[in-house]
Amino acid sequence: MSSTPPNPAAPVSTPAAAPAPRRPGTQYALVVQRTEQLTPHLLRVHFAGEGVAAWIAAADPDRLAATDTYAKVLFARREVGLTAPYDLEVLRETVPLEDLPSRRTYTIRDVDAAASTLAIDFVVHGDEGVAGPWAQAAQAGDAISASVPGGAFAPSDDVTLPRLLLGDDSAIPAIAAALEAMPAGAQGVAIIEVESAAEELELAHPEGIDLRWLHRAGAGDDGATATAGLPLVAAARALPAPTGPVEVFAHGERGAMKELRRLINGEWGVDRSLLSLSAYWALGRAEDAFQAEKREPIGQIFEG
Ligand SMILES: Cc1cc2nc3c(=O)[nH]c(=O)nc-3n(C[C@H](O)[C@H](O)[C@H](O)COP(=O)(O)OP(=O)(O)OC[C@H]3O[C@@H](n4cnc5c(N)ncnc54)[C@H](O)[C@@H]3O)c2cc1C
Repeated sequence: MSSTPPNPAAPVSTPAAAPAPRRPGTQYALVVQRTEQLTPHLLRVHFAGEGVAAWIAAADPDRLAATDTYAKVLFARREVGLTAPYDLEVLRETVPLEDLPSRRTYTIRDVDAAASTLAIDFVVHGDEGVAGPWAQAAQAGDAISASVPGGAFAPSDDVTLPRLLLGDDSAIPAIAAALEAMPAGAQGVAIIEVESAAEELELAHPEGIDLRWLHRAGAGDDGATATAGLPLVAAARALPAPTGPVEVFAHGERGAMKELRRLINGEWGVDRSLLSLSAYWALGRAEDAFQAEKREPIGQIFEG
């Protein structure tokens, strides 16, 4: 993530005079300040407000220092009229099941502790789902609810270590942040799969990183989304096998990530300690089903 350091003196949005102790799962209201259309299908939403300040103050600085900082975010349908932050324990007692907020996972693309703002880049992938359509309709003053962040990856400072970054649109925020954080002398390849040339972005990156864009459109018979991951896997398979250690960051659609795990960890033998590889979403699955399947063989990337 690109960020300015957290400000320990940032105000905390506890409502009463006596601050309530923070418990796991504490939620913070992120209020939309403005939106910014980065490409036809990638929308940056800027959030501000007391809840953002409190979220930054409560976050573990190590998680904020990662380049793949992410948060579990709750989205409520506007017509239900709930006020963020959401207390799910209370809402489960008072609100019908179908009106409860839905949980989704998003990379925090940028944090500015001094301004108490943060940004999330949403893939707007159609009318299906919760978060994509929410972002598409977002207006200043709308709010979502987030818990404190996770995140573990940060590129090595070792300029002699080659890099390989692979991902689809959903991983653009994390890949962009990783490229920005790399030492100037870093060498390697970054391959990002998007629908078409219109989805390409200018990403700051070290000169020694060969940044390549792949397009799904035209890659298959039945439309762009059905081919998600195929161009990425084919491009990775066309790379020469590394002859030594390589730092890998690969995230995106689950089927593609399974193929990349077989190639990179299996065939190439890249050690897991150098490998950040996971599924960010799964074709045909809402996130609830995708998360639940992590407990079953179909949802597991490193087994099978
Ligand atoms: C750690 C982590 C970080 C992530 N960071 C980001 C991020 O910064 N930006 C981002 O946009 N996503 C990110 N994702 C992916 C995001 O959580 C999922 O795409 C999520 O499913 C979107 O929720 P939704 O409500 O829009 O769709 P869901 O209700 O979950 O799904 C509805 C339908 O849309 C399809 N779908 C979901 N996502 C996509 C997609 N990207 N492209 C095409 N079809 C899709 C599903 O297969 C399903 O058929 C991240 C995921 C993880 C685990």
